[in-house]
Amino acid sequence: MKTRPSIAQLVCYILLAALLIAAAVLLSIVTKTNAEVQRVRALTPTPLPEFGSILKVTPDPSLPTPEPVIRSGASGETVVKLQTRLKELGYYTGSLDGQFGPGTRTAVTLFQQQNSLQPDGIVGAETREVLYSAAARPAVTPAPTATPAPTVDTTSIGAVQQRLKDLGYYTGTVDGLTGPGTKSAVKLFQQQHGLADDGIYGPATGAVLFSDAAHPVVTTPTPDPNLVPGLMANGYPILVNDDNYIPDNYQTVCLVNMRDYCDPDIVTVKGSEILGEKYAVDALQAMIRAAQAEGLKKWQVNAGYRSIAYQQELFDERVYAYRQEGMTGVQARAKVRQTVADPGSSEHHTGLAFDLAVTGEPSFGATKQSVWLAQHCWEYGFILRYPADKTAITKISHEPWHIRYVGTAHSLIMRDEKLCLEEYIDKYAN
Ligand SMILES: [Zn+2]
Repeated sequence: MKTRPSIAQLVCYILLAALLIAAAVLLSIVTKTNAEVQRVRALTPTPLPEFGSILKVTPDPSLPTPEPVIRSGASGETVVKLQTRLKELGYYTGSLDGQFGPGTRTAVTLFQQQNSLQPDGIVGAETREVLYSAAARPAVTPAPTATPAPTVDTTSIGAVQQRLKDLGYYTGTVDGLTGPGTKSAVKLFQQQHGLADDGIYGPATGAVLFSDAAHPVVTTPTPDPNLVPGLMANGYPILVNDDNYIPDNYQTVCLVNMRDYCDPDIVTVKGSEILGEKYAVDALQAMIRAAQAEGLKKWQVNAGYRSIAYQQELFDERVYAYRQEGMTGVQARAKVRQTVADPGSSEHHTGLAFDLAVTGEPSFGATKQSVWLAQHCWEYGFILRYPADKTAITKISHEPWHIRYVGTAHSLIMRDEKLCLEEYIDKYAN
């Protein structure tokens, strides 16, 4: 026979159930907390600086702190921390997986070797102390990779010099000593391999230098727009005339398109293709600005740089025209040479010679600008290249419009001593 439980019995059951639930929850919390404390203890047997505070909270003075040695086979947070530090210093390139495997061991050994520690691949107190201090030296060799095959000691300066020499970056002697020569070779190598060009041989440079990615030096000179162009090795201006063709290896420094480059308020550039050496064009603009300040305006540039190929074209066209008129080849060429320089013998190949004009004036020689130019060009580094009184020497008829940049160091002497370029070179440079 079934009876319904009384109210008192019901209350009793509910209270009992609540009590059981509460006990279970409490037990679970205590167990969890204890497990957490044990875990932290196991992971941090010795106070590492950042764990010091935790250990202060949970000290266990009854147990001596065991010497924390991390070696092959270890795993967990401490290994991750170790790998992170070794990676930071350039010794370790593997993943931060928290497994102390052969890669980590090699990195530790390398670190020890380069920091005057016993290279045993085990992280003991001494190694750790150095490793986590500011005194830890970054790796000076390429970090060990999965496929290390260094047959040379890439940390030896001699080996680095030899490698740079083999590739053409270093031209000095392989003496195993660092010096300015080695440093600039390293810098050049870095520049040509997209590396930070500090001239310091570090792990990143080493990794490329001793790899297949290292290519021989590329000797295309990088033009320095501030370099004074047109000077010979002895510092004197290059002489280009019928007897002195421009050298085959002559290189312009920095040609600019004059119409794009020049201030149109200063100078009109006749053709859209006229080029000039930036250094000389700057001087030209400064000069014309000074003339304008004295009321002499409407300056125009009719010619600047001419390539040898272009000069050849110009020459051939004229020869053809004279031959159409019935001249022989010899006659035609002789006739053309009276007005057009042979390809290779024109000063315009330097990019430092300009033919000037005054807009709307058919004869430059008859202008006030021409008088001003003859008087003042010297102050801006230019010379009147073919003066009326030097035609016997230059073998070119008077050209009041043709100026050549040589720099004030030379132009002022030539003005004061009344020398044309041939005379000046003959007197001082030969
Ligand atoms: Zn000219």
